[in-house]
Amino acid sequence: MSFCGGRRDKHNSYHYSLCLSVLLLVTATAAEEASTIISRFQQYLQINTAQPQPNYYEAAEFITSQAKSLNLESQTLELVKGKPLILLKWAGKDPSLPSVLLNSHTDVVPSEHHKWAHPPFSAHLDPASGNIYARGSQDMKCVGLQYLEAIRKLKASGFQPTRTVYLSFVPDEEIGGDDGAGKFVDSDVFVKMNVGIVLDEGLPSPTENYRAFYGERSPWWLVVKAVGAPGHGAKLYDNTATENLLKSIETIRRFRAAQFDLVKAGLKAEGEVISVNMVFLKAGTPSPSGFVMNLQPSEAQAGFDIRVPPTADQASLEKRIAEEWAPASRNMTFEFKQKVSVNDKFGRPAITAVDSSNVWWALLEESIVKANAGVGKPEIFPASTDARYFRERGLPAIGFSPMANTPILLHDHNEFLNKDEYLKGIDVYESIIKTYASYIEHPRDEASREEL
Ligand SMILES: [Zn+2]
Repeated sequence: MSFCGGRRDKHNSYHYSLCLSVLLLVTATAAEEASTIISRFQQYLQINTAQPQPNYYEAAEFITSQAKSLNLESQTLELVKGKPLILLKWAGKDPSLPSVLLNSHTDVVPSEHHKWAHPPFSAHLDPASGNIYARGSQDMKCVGLQYLEAIRKLKASGFQPTRTVYLSFVPDEEIGGDDGAGKFVDSDVFVKMNVGIVLDEGLPSPTENYRAFYGERSPWWLVVKAVGAPGHGAKLYDNTATENLLKSIETIRRFRAAQFDLVKAGLKAEGEVISVNMVFLKAGTPSPSGFVMNLQPSEAQAGFDIRVPPTADQASLEKRIAEEWAPASRNMTFEFKQKVSVNDKFGRPAITAVDSSNVWWALLEESIVKANAGVGKPEIFPASTDARYFRERGLPAIGFSPMANTPILLHDHNEFLNKDEYLKGIDVYESIIKTYASYIEHPRDEASREEL
């Protein structure tokens, strides 16, 4: 900049205007570059990968073509027919070091088109606000493409990774991930990748600090069943199925309120409590006009979506369910439609350390700050992501989606991401990937350990 300074006299007015045009040219090129980056993002968003019929092949083709333009090695794994997983590789200078895996899913949840201001696959960019409206703009096509854009910048700067960097674009996260990340971590390909750290999705933050996640709650989908003697609708007697079920519902509701109170009082974060929500109620004897009204049914059921944090005592919750929520003494039984353990396959809580024992956490914080951004205290993700498949294998996985100053609109109508937030996120990933891919354990640490 200094060459544009100095006195403005006759002699250097030519110089001055030359500087001005160079400056304008630089600004114009930057704006052009930004708009190309945004249009690539829009292209990815415009591919309809909504469940239950995601157009996976179109997404695969798009990602593969991006990989080609970046000279990344790419392969399409079809671990389940019709569900391609795209794996990209940026080879590091030292392949013996554990690799860095940047994961994202290609599918999105369905949307109620008529409730959106702009069609969910138009990727409409509002010129006034800069918001890009699309299903997947937050969850999580943004992240998948930001990884690639960050690599584009790093390559342009001449950076070469020491560790190998992998990018996986997996299918089916929105329907549980069994055929996506689930099959991936079980594959030989995955074992050969020698992954040392995984980055996966997080949540937007309404404040200026990003959010990061070191664990997540496990879904337990519980069905509680009650039976009792059937009888006339006019008769008062004990142990009817609906009375038995209602007693359980009352007990469960009290537990729910106590957990929710902890959140409301600010004593615990949403991801740190056990949430329980009733999702269905089933009872009654059907009739052509609805239900038989003068008959007390002999069976009644209720379903609950329970989310258990990895820090919770799994055994005591199991005991509570058996003894209080569905006690045999009240003719109650229960079954789990899904029950994901809060522990990894080694029996330890499936959480990623965020203290000095995990260098990847410190490096993440450091590289976010280096990119002139901030990150809040690490949290437990309130719902499920593919990160659990990696944590189950004992691998460190951090959930992180760089979206600050953004309302949480995952799975909601009018999901959007502001273009400036998207661009800022690319710079943040550039810093993270550079730091992660360059990291080698400092030989001095070894030496000082020996000295001790
Ligand atoms: Zn997601």
